[in-house]
Amino acid sequence: SAPAPVYKRILLKLSGEALMGSLNFGIAPDVMNFVAGEIKSAIDAGVQVAVVVGGGNIFRGEGLARGGMDRVTGDQMGMLATVINALAIQDSVERLGLEVRVQSAIRINEVCEDFIRRRAVSHLENGRVVVFAAGTGNPFFTTDSAAALRAVEIGADLMLKATKVDGIYTADPFKDKTATKYEHLSYDEALNKRLGVMDQTAMVMCRDQKMKLRVYDMDRPGALLRIVNGEPIGTLVTV
Ligand code: UDP
Repeated sequence: SAPAPVYKRILLKLSGEALMGSLNFGIAPDVMNFVAGEIKSAIDAGVQVAVVVGGGNIFRGEGLARGGMDRVTGDQMGMLATVINALAIQDSVERLGLEVRVQSAIRINEVCEDFIRRRAVSHLENGRVVVFAAGTGNPFFTTDSAAALRAVEIGADLMLKATKVDGIYTADPFKDKTATKYEHLSYDEALNKRLGVMDQTAMVMCRDQKMKLRVYDMDRPGALLRIVNGEPIGTLVTV
């Protein structure tokens, strides 16, 4: 028989860049299908799945500001970019036969619901995937911080950060051949060593609220299901 999942409710953070696949901009259909399949495997195992998606494949406020744009306007464009990505995830998940709702931190009611915590929890309890869009709704924050915030708000048992590497390393494994992977790390260690896992705001939020985080390589098929079934893939970060 199939192993029983060890988590009841998870929050998965996907960066916008992850959705580009081999493209230079926008959304790769093959990646969307893959991501949807991974989400479905967790739902089919009986796990409640919430998603926070980034917008870096379209716009980042910081980058726009470097080009001279007002930072707040740039951040608003970045947040709207995450809404675009959330709609793409909604579509790909729905095509696999699952129910899914997008909830935005910025009101945009013609395309999705507003973020209402109790409604989000109710969707999750009814087996619907909930995709949180528009980050925190505030400029100068990131979608990593939004993911930490939403994970805490909905009472997730685990936050997952999907990255290009299979966990957190002592140094960038793409640049440093001697880099080794952490199996387990505390938030204070990650903060002190400035390990580039998430921005500090997100890490402090997770630390103070005792949220568990697992950093893993999203590209490996089946990884999400294995994690919800308790396999120690990637790196675990705890207080
Ligand atoms: N953003 C924001 N407030 C938030 C979340 C995001 O202003 O709470 C803006 C910010 O400009 C950011 C952009 O949205 O650069 C896209 O989010 P992020 O860079 O976190 O996306 P990712 O790196 O995950 O693709």
